Amino acid sequence: MEKRRLYMDYSATTPVKKEVLDEMMPYFTENFGNASSFHTFGREAKTALDKARGQVANLINAKPNEIYFTAGGTESDNWAIEGVAFAHRSKGNHIITSKIEHHGVLHICEYLEKHHGFEVTYLDVDAEGRVKLDELEKAIKDTTILISIMFANNEIGTIQPIKEIGEIAKKHNVLFHTDAVQAAGNVPIDVKELNVDLMSMSSHKIYGPKGIGALYIKTGTKLHSFVHGGAQERRRRAGTENMPSIVGYGKAAELAKTNMDEHIERLTSLRTKLIDGILEKIPYTRVNGSLEDRLPGNVNFSFEFIEGEGILLMLDMLGIAASSGSACTSGSLDPSHVLMAIGLPHEIAHGSLRLSIGDFTTEDDIDYIIEKLPAVIERLRMMSPLYDAVIKQK
Ligand SMILES: *Cc1c(COP(=O)(O)O)cnc(C)c1O
Repeated sequence: MEKRRLYMDYSATTPVKKEVLDEMMPYFTENFGNASSFHTFGREAKTALDKARGQVANLINAKPNEIYFTAGGTESDNWAIEGVAFAHRSKGNHIITSKIEHHGVLHICEYLEKHHGFEVTYLDVDAEGRVKLDELEKAIKDTTILISIMFANNEIGTIQPIKEIGEIAKKHNVLFHTDAVQAAGNVPIDVKELNVDLMSMSSHKIYGPKGIGALYIKTGTKLHSFVHGGAQERRRRAGTENMPSIVGYGKAAELAKTNMDEHIERLTSLRTKLIDGILEKIPYTRVNGSLEDRLPGNVNFSFEFIEGEGILLMLDMLGIAASSGSACTSGSLDPSHVLMAIGLPHEIAHGSLRLSIGDFTTEDDIDYIIEKLPAVIERLRMMSPLYDAVIKQK
């Protein structure tokens, strides 16, 4: 059997780019200083810390002192939501989010409901995965303190009307947090044009190392700390700075900003080719998510009559690494909460496949998938009683 190693799961994580790794290496060894120390080693680290903060700020047109380094997207989500909830408890206990958020948002909301007396509204989305603005506005009450809606969805790629959501939040004097882990570095973001108060970002989705991310906190936004200890990050996020990773994240952010236009054009063209090629060759297939407002590298299909796990297994045997829309890998047989929220019936949600394209994906890779996937789907359908019934009916 032909064996390749074709990575099509860039939404799960990305490899560290060589330029990024090269920048990081000295900070493990000769430049190992603690940025809080009052000596040359410390000052060198502090200089590198400031530079990286500037690079991340520049990616979203923020001020450097509005960027706080964290241990990744999940911590940023948890911090933003819990931090605002605790700091604004005297004003109210109501939070609005959506049904399609990442678990980094959903599970902190559930925790606040269960253990701290908060009330959370989980908004429905439309068939393409967009929050409905009129329903959002209707959900706001006197006790609402925070709206948290993701910038772009990690499963179906849909980009939300962030500017409009920000305007609604501002009009009602409610803080607005957005999980931009999939968006920051993949699409242009200018926080000065959006009414965003808090924004979560992560390094390992944009060719930086894992375990490092940032929270953008607009100047003047009140929130409690999440990690308590030393005076790092202007007393808001304690713990000795993870210098190699911070330097790497800074470089990854700089590269993302510099290459943005080319990145978007290339990935979008590969995405279109993949979607068109598969829809032409495989019947009973749908594309999930919006075709207009979509992350450049995201493709998500549902193939009727079959199970996503079977597709993943057979693709893996062909060397293609992809992701299913279902949560079966985490031990549950329920289909993904995102696919359920856009209204897919159970049996269709189960047959879903996410192929995410990145900077190392080639035309040849896309051709290989368009060549191999139809036979995989056909073989699985042949074993499916559901498909059998449909074919016999015809
Ligand atoms: C990956 C991801 C996260 C989690 O980020 P980590 O850095 O892995 O903790 C949060 N939100 C979204 C939308 C993501 O895609």
